Amino acid sequence: MRIGIVGGGQLGMMMAEAAVKYGHSIVGLDPVENCPLSYVADSMIVADYNNKKAFEDLAEKSDVITYEFENVDLFLINEFLTRIPQKSMGLEVSRERLREKNFVKDLGVPTVKFNTYKSLDDVFYPSIIKTNTGGYDGKGQHRLHNQKDVDQLHLDAQKNYIIEEYLSFDYEISVIASRDKYGNVVTYPIPKNTHKNGILFISEVSKELPCEVISDATKYANSIITSLDYVGTLAVEFFVIKGKVIFNEFAPRPHNSGHYSIEGCNVSQYSNHILAICGEKVITPFLMKNAVMINVLGQNMDYLDNLIGENIHVHMYNKKDVKKNRKMGHITVLDNNNDDLKIKVLDIIKESI
Ligand code: ADP
Ligand code: MG
Repeated sequence: MRIGIVGGGQLGMMMAEAAVKYGHSIVGLDPVENCPLSYVADSMIVADYNNKKAFEDLAEKSDVITYEFENVDLFLINEFLTRIPQKSMGLEVSRERLREKNFVKDLGVPTVKFNTYKSLDDVFYPSIIKTNTGGYDGKGQHRLHNQKDVDQLHLDAQKNYIIEEYLSFDYEISVIASRDKYGNVVTYPIPKNTHKNGILFISEVSKELPCEVISDATKYANSIITSLDYVGTLAVEFFVIKGKVIFNEFAPRPHNSGHYSIEGCNVSQYSNHILAICGEKVITPFLMKNAVMINVLGQNMDYLDNLIGENIHVHMYNKKDVKKNRKMGHITVLDNNNDDLKIKVLDIIKESI
């Protein structure tokens, strides 16, 4: 099949890597000529996401279209919906945090306490204020612990905000789920995710999670992906506090915390995404070896200096400008022996986890 991918970042690149293994050809759409996807795609259309002519061109050159990030042009996605198995409900709901949390709450999934933020009258502690739209990797977020934080708060009057209870969670997890057009849903072994400054640092899929946590998180993710009538791979992030699973956000696309599945599972989150959007049935994933995925940000390029050892898999995204907090690549380390796994990871990141 000819697959059109809107968005040329690393997620698009890894979707394409999975797709070419099934013999599909790829055409990408991205404003940046030498974006990560351009190194894998058969051809690229270099244009803005809201360029209708470019979208028409993409539709003409592909049998099926997918998107790899949230901030694509919703109007155009809706116009070409018959070609987009992922559909647009996941996008429409997740691009507004307030709508997303209300949608999930209505499904009976626990969320943190949240409200629209309009003025200082809405402040409570401890809390976190986030832009309602457009935020990612912790951008546009302000934590409020006391009056001092409020005094330093500078919000953009043009933007809408949500205020959420700041949860002192025990840990974070994500459920990566894939659903096909027949309604089958499969979920991946659940990673424990550690963030630094709101950006994913590592995902560990080796720690035993309590059965109740696994079953609640899986049930909630299943309900979300099914209610969105979504086809493809989607990720749901949760906080866990005292064994209780609480929804944070979902992403209607493969996810950073699911990168480990490329080598860690029998079928990756990208392969299942491609199978689903091409009308095939999704495959049940299982863990082949315990895995840790480490993000290589611009300030962590030295992680690449220490990659001696078996079962260490490096993925660099071919981004030319190395910038602080920019995701440049990732490393997946596999080992069934958890002590050896930890040693290998420490050798790379040089700090305790
Ligand atoms: P983004 O879209 O930037 O990923 P998130 O809402 O997932 O936004 O926030 C990024 C990270 O910030 C989360 O993974 C978590 O570590 C922290 N965080 C976000 N919201 C809360 C909250 N209500 N309580 C505690 N920590 C939070
Ligand atoms: Mg997040």
